[in-house]
Amino acid sequence: MTDRIREFLSARQPEGPCLVVDLDVVRDNYTTFANALPDTRVFYAVKANPAPQVLSLLADMGSCFDTASMPEIEMALAAGATPDRISFGNTIKKERDIERAWGMGVSLFAFDSEAELEKIARVAPGAKVFCRILCDGEGAEWPLSRKFGCVPDMAIELLERAWRLGLKPHGISFHVGSQQKNVHAYDDALAIVARIFRTLAERGIELKMVNMGGGFPTRYLRDVPAVKTYGEAIHTSLMNHFGNRLPETIIEPGRGMVGNAGVLQAEVVLIAKKSAEDRLRWVYLDIGKFGGLAETMDEAIRYPIETPRDGDALEPCILAGPTCDSADVLYEKNPYPLPISLEIGDKVLIAATGAYTSTYSAVAFNGFPPLQQFYI
Ligand SMILES: *Cc1c(COP(=O)(O)O)cnc(C)c1O
Repeated sequence: MTDRIREFLSARQPEGPCLVVDLDVVRDNYTTFANALPDTRVFYAVKANPAPQVLSLLADMGSCFDTASMPEIEMALAAGATPDRISFGNTIKKERDIERAWGMGVSLFAFDSEAELEKIARVAPGAKVFCRILCDGEGAEWPLSRKFGCVPDMAIELLERAWRLGLKPHGISFHVGSQQKNVHAYDDALAIVARIFRTLAERGIELKMVNMGGGFPTRYLRDVPAVKTYGEAIHTSLMNHFGNRLPETIIEPGRGMVGNAGVLQAEVVLIAKKSAEDRLRWVYLDIGKFGGLAETMDEAIRYPIETPRDGDALEPCILAGPTCDSADVLYEKNPYPLPISLEIGDKVLIAATGAYTSTYSAVAFNGFPPLQQFYI
């Protein structure tokens, strides 16, 4: 929560829920990543927050971009990135989109299956490809599970196949799971990656690049290790597993780049109990799962909430959104302590909401408009 955001909100008094992102924080975050891993290129994961203001700022600072779709590629280009600074990192792409991206000059593509590799070979001959390997996501609060990646043995076979298909087998990627609080999670993956590099080298294929993905956490309610600590752990792992033949490396921070730059202002619409004996109050806000707080799914991400009555006695409550869908409850299994004195009409500030909020908001579910956004 920065003074600039507070000043903006008090001067502008926006009506309805809104996200305010302080671009100075994004700028600091980029510098922190660049300094923590000076030999590693940063590919910002566009999906975390694709606002043009964020993308232009990062493009100007020299960032590259990890994209998942044609519109994301177009947004990165519009922000000033050249095609050689864009990776088409989704392992699930339509063949015609691969063809279009290749036509626009994008030359780096992810895959994790034989069929995807064949698509790339057909429409982007000679492209650089990297294979994503499975990671268990252990230690992450928002694990990416088994949806992406293949086992290392399959990665070896497929990269060899890539070479035979006329593609450039460029490297390996992994993602240790988002909001990964264990700085050593990258080490296990890097050990596997180094083994794949060695095996392929024995077969005459020299991989060049390791894409270490995202996972760098944002501080919500608890402290998280500093980016510098991740940088040191990763550097040590690279030295241990690759010795003095270090590969080219890239990281793809999303949450860690923008999460702490945003604050969401919301309003208390209703405070109610379900019976005279009800222990817990229900507090309904004008934003919920469909307004941008989708990461409260399974209560995975627990946001810090500031109220105008902080300092008063607290009592846990069930926190819910305003829509007529019973799934639109933010915290119920683990009720959220809020001041007993909280009143209908109070404005609350939900911090660390710069990542994975704005684009998760529904277009008009129940008539509620998409989340308003301000970039300052
Ligand atoms: C979402 C995503 C990221 C960003 O992950 P964070 O945990 O937000 O840093 C990076 N790489 C890929 C391939 C992704 O899908």
